[in-house]
Amino acid sequence: MPSRQALFWHPRPYDLPASDALFLRAAADNCAYHIAHCPGYAAICRRLDFDPKSLRSTEDLARIPVLPTLLFKREALFSMPERRMAMRVTSSGTSGTFSRIGFDWGSLLAEVPMVLRLGARHRLISGVPAHCVVLGYQPHRDNHAGVTRTMYGLTFFSPPLSRTYALQRRGTSYIPDLDGAAHALERLAASPFPTRVIGFPSYLWFGLQQLEALGRTVRLRPGSRIILAGGWKEHGAQEVAKSALYAAAERVLGVPPDHIHELFGAVEHPVFYNACPNHRFHVPIYSRVLIRDPETLAPLPMGEVGLINLISPLMTATPTLSVMTDDLGYLEPGDACGCGIPSPALTIVGRVGMSDIRTCAAGAAELLGKGEMG
Ligand SMILES: [Zn+2]
Repeated sequence: MPSRQALFWHPRPYDLPASDALFLRAAADNCAYHIAHCPGYAAICRRLDFDPKSLRSTEDLARIPVLPTLLFKREALFSMPERRMAMRVTSSGTSGTFSRIGFDWGSLLAEVPMVLRLGARHRLISGVPAHCVVLGYQPHRDNHAGVTRTMYGLTFFSPPLSRTYALQRRGTSYIPDLDGAAHALERLAASPFPTRVIGFPSYLWFGLQQLEALGRTVRLRPGSRIILAGGWKEHGAQEVAKSALYAAAERVLGVPPDHIHELFGAVEHPVFYNACPNHRFHVPIYSRVLIRDPETLAPLPMGEVGLINLISPLMTATPTLSVMTDDLGYLEPGDACGCGIPSPALTIVGRVGMSDIRTCAAGAAELLGKGEMG
């Protein structure tokens, strides 16, 4: 079995020590593939004098060249011709720029056991049919946003009876229809089947506030769930305390906190992160996380806040083996959480200023031999 598939089909999704050897082999194979197929990536490795054969221990993962996610917004970096890719997706691009990430067929195959294992572990998968209210974009062939694909995929975690979208496609653009979604929730509360609300946390927050202001509270059927994906930053919303959001969801929709799921991921790192019952994102075996000093990029010890560096050998169409996000966060030992998941937990605390990230991207561009990227 190829090393990537061996890692993604491993049966224990949070047993990092048991998967270390598989992860290292898959990372070395992935890096060698990108060096052979992506001239830009090969140039970076050459300038940093990095040879994937030197990956022997988990400490060595820190030496893999780290590409800032901003680089994928400025450069089309691929390791495969487009005709061989399964699909291409983009980040949401609120600032007008977005990453273009190609997916190969093998990455989609590897995602299947990851999503099934973690979906079962976090009780997202159910055989009971459910109605879906998506507080996000209606899919369309011209919409390549990763988050649209993710939310649509999440509607299949139980047999979908219906789908209602809060952002509806009209011609070439989207119009928000939160009122339509609110009407759907009122109608579905009378259904014998549960409802799944899938969406951006900011949309849920706005929707709950509006409903509550109008005195329109509903009681969704027992077994109804809320699945939050896409993060807060997509729509420039003020982040509210999670406890306030969860309390409002219970007051307005009748969904208790243990039926609210929070997901984390990025188009440049499409690993399926699920919040544990204590709202922490434990690192699954498909991923390794390093926290780096924003100035020196040196890896930081547990508990210290720095730039989040995500590593996964999932993708071969795009060299996203090791990417630097523009998020700040810290790691904690898994056993400190108390939920029973043993792997370290990642907490995201915010974003760094764009100027810092530009500096980081400019450095990477220099390595590509392209000079300043602004
Ligand atoms: Zn936990």
